[in-house]
Amino acid sequence: MECPYCNNKTKIIATEENNQSNYKIRLCVNCSRKYNTIEKILLKDITIVKRDNRREAFDEKKIKQSLKIATSKRPIPIMSIEAIIDDIIKSINNSDNTEISTKIISQMVISHLSRLDLISYVRYASTYQDFISLDHMTQELNKLSMSSSHNYRQQELFSEKFL
Ligand SMILES: [Zn+2]
Repeated sequence: MECPYCNNKTKIIATEENNQSNYKIRLCVNCSRKYNTIEKILLKDITIVKRDNRREAFDEKKIKQSLKIATSKRPIPIMSIEAIIDDIIKSINNSDNTEISTKIISQMVISHLSRLDLISYVRYASTYQDFISLDHMTQELNKLSMSSSHNYRQQELFSEKFL
């Protein structure tokens, strides 16, 4: 895991476990800052139903990877990404289902990203655009850009992709 301050490698210097989460203290090998992470444990076996109806075991690394791609080069701390994953795992743990579709997961991610960062949201949503209508996305973007100070750049990115 990368250091949230300088993006260098970290090592785990302490771990504490209970039945719901792993609590880890990490030390950056570069800047020597310490920080902690809490990794939620999935409480049950969850099967992911993919778009083509294939099934596979839930893997939070895949969500993390898609979030990293969507947020790359954006000023988003790794903690925010972990908070999104934690929240999704919490939702899955609280639900009665043992199967969950990639569509639902990507909708959860999209809803988090729309509050976190507009450009990451557009990147992610455009990858999964068959899950949301372009009209809906345009509405969301208009809402967001009205309250945004980076209006110009975001409009530009949006245009490149869709117009
Ligand atoms: Zn560091």
